[in-house]
Amino acid sequence: MSSSRREFVKGSALAATACVFPGSAASNLFAAGLASQGPEDPAGKSSWYDRPMRWAQLAFVEDDPGNYDQQFWLDYFRAVHADAACLTAGGVVAFYPTGLPLQKRSAWLGNRDAFGDLMAGCRAMGMNIVARTDAHACWQKVYDAHPDWIRVDAGGQPVRHPSDPEYWETCALGPYNFEFMTSVHEEIMRKYKPDAIFTNRWAGSGMCYCRHCRENFRAATGLDLPRSGNPQDPARKQYIVWRQQRLFDLWRLWNEKIRAINADAFYMANAGGGALSELDMKTINELAPTLVADRQGRRGLMPPWTNGKNGKEYRATMGSKAIAGMFSVGIEDEHRWKDSVQSGDEIRMWVADGMAQGLRPWFIKFNAKPIDHRWLPVVKEIFDWHHVNEKYFRNLRSLARVGLVYSQQSAWFYGGEQAREKIDEPTLGFYEALVEARIPFEMVHDRCLDQEHLAPFRTLILPNIAALSDAQCASLHAFVRQGGSVVATFETSLYDEWGVRRNDFGLASLFGASYAGRLEENMRNSYLNLEKDPATNAYHSLVRGFEDSGRIINAVNQVSVTPTDESQFAPLRIEPSYPDLPMESVYMRPNARHRPGVYLRNVGAGRVVYFPGDIDRTFWDVLSTDHGKLLRNAVVWATNEAPVVTVEGRGILDIAVWEQKDSMTLHLVNLTNPMMMKGPVREIVPVSEQKISLRVPAGRRIQRVHMLAAATDVPYRSEGDTVALETPSIALHEVVAIDFSA
Ligand SMILES: [Zn+2]
Repeated sequence: MSSSRREFVKGSALAATACVFPGSAASNLFAAGLASQGPEDPAGKSSWYDRPMRWAQLAFVEDDPGNYDQQFWLDYFRAVHADAACLTAGGVVAFYPTGLPLQKRSAWLGNRDAFGDLMAGCRAMGMNIVARTDAHACWQKVYDAHPDWIRVDAGGQPVRHPSDPEYWETCALGPYNFEFMTSVHEEIMRKYKPDAIFTNRWAGSGMCYCRHCRENFRAATGLDLPRSGNPQDPARKQYIVWRQQRLFDLWRLWNEKIRAINADAFYMANAGGGALSELDMKTINELAPTLVADRQGRRGLMPPWTNGKNGKEYRATMGSKAIAGMFSVGIEDEHRWKDSVQSGDEIRMWVADGMAQGLRPWFIKFNAKPIDHRWLPVVKEIFDWHHVNEKYFRNLRSLARVGLVYSQQSAWFYGGEQAREKIDEPTLGFYEALVEARIPFEMVHDRCLDQEHLAPFRTLILPNIAALSDAQCASLHAFVRQGGSVVATFETSLYDEWGVRRNDFGLASLFGASYAGRLEENMRNSYLNLEKDPATNAYHSLVRGFEDSGRIINAVNQVSVTPTDESQFAPLRIEPSYPDLPMESVYMRPNARHRPGVYLRNVGAGRVVYFPGDIDRTFWDVLSTDHGKLLRNAVVWATNEAPVVTVEGRGILDIAVWEQKDSMTLHLVNLTNPMMMKGPVREIVPVSEQKISLRVPAGRRIQRVHMLAAATDVPYRSEGDTVALETPSIALHEVVAIDFSA
């Protein structure tokens, strides 16, 4: 990123922030995010963070000490080639002889040191050790000594733990964390010098109205704590930023105290995620040398690619830093059967997708006295294969040319209480369409739109990225000017970074369309008519695959827009809603106006596609095959270059293309399954052979082409810079690896 660009972005964002929040916490948060470059990592590259490829986590329950078989776990960790372990030390319950009177010792501890002994066993095997604490609950003794450390609900009452009423919920933003948990972390560091401390549930259990939160919020903002969830309520808007500020201050404090005792250690927060996550991912990157994505399994409507999505979301700001993917061996459900075990194939599919998309596997087991043993050989099989092929998982970069943008600020300030529908669902729709289209892609954080972050990409997708600052819009304009392409939907750029609506899209000049002052919501029985280009008398490639339809269904919501150039050809025109009942009324009205359903433009060397409808969100809702093709065609037309990879054959495959030091890999994860959208899968359903054409990075010479799951070489043909081959049937996860000669 050029220094002039950096100054420009920094200056604009600060100016914009200052307008809304003069002298408040908000400017500090965003200023810190933009001002500092790179992680606060005094230990530098020599440290241990990038070493562990496979993680084991054993979370003790209180009656484990004296009742579990330590050697069983040490043998298992060795057998699965785990390089690092996360072991419960303290917080809610101490599993070591703590000297802190307010920290509850396990009633089963006696004169043992459960944490210390297990840690010593792991260390003897050369493993790195992360000590786990939990900050969200405390026993009665803490309540009695410091009633002000307890979380207080909106009615002013201290909150008992909803699951175990012998405990209380703690306030995350006050002295319980800043003072007491700091002393716990310091004691653990002094006694054991672990490589890091990881804290579960350190960010609170919802709004807290305790004395400290009320006083601190008032001191920072002059306001009372919000009672509304609406992000346009001034107190709520300030709170969204202030809470992050407090948690990042806490993170920095713990980092500093930990590093004062072991300079090569750090604080590892349980934090991060996609648009709906609450802490700014760009700031997280500045604090974290490595991180784990805590997404333990799926429940409800959730495809297995959701795990790979975690990897992409973290990587968007964390770059090539090591990111682990924490998975549970148990059923993840709101009814929380914590001692359960998942179907083996469900674990396999979830973890395979994460590994394909760059996550290092990290299994988690609660309760050191295993009841159901069925998961043990499943995790061993996954870890064994990962271990044998470890060098092919040390990725240097993704070769994807398409970036799917996500925006936390859009979720916080525009989405608010409807963030799931308005922000998450458009992304999920586009994600599914790209997986079905077998187009490899990365995710891009909206606060990383600088040249350095965007350099790998030809096309950026903006799935209703509604809230964008002037500076972010300027970055997108610059991206297109320099030959990049953009595909955007619905209200993208219609709001500023604080969720305040503009008079017109910030990207109106890219879209070739202006906001006409209203939304059409919950439309019924509206369509998109296909139009031939009068200049060629042919259909545009945007409608490839459904040219014979005449028309397809429209989105459910759309923005009314005015074209900049009324004469511009549009391959889709909107058939406005007409009655869907009584049946006699279901006919198109003759005087209807047919406005463009899509705007396609060449801008400089780039291309822009803008859909006024929420086609992506509607796709997630309805899963119309026509919408899937339309989204795919839009990305293909915009990208306008030979693809990095084509994979032809039946089935749904999540794919990824990576480059390592001396090799490249193509991951093919077979998600084809009757339980793809809602697990658990009953069995893996193999797909038939796939025909592959893969572009090799310039300057690389092929030495060998082989498959890591089949563990065999594969015949191939070189044609210019591409390699063509066919895979045999794929069960779950195949990796085509191309070794390069030195
Ligand atoms: Zn509080």
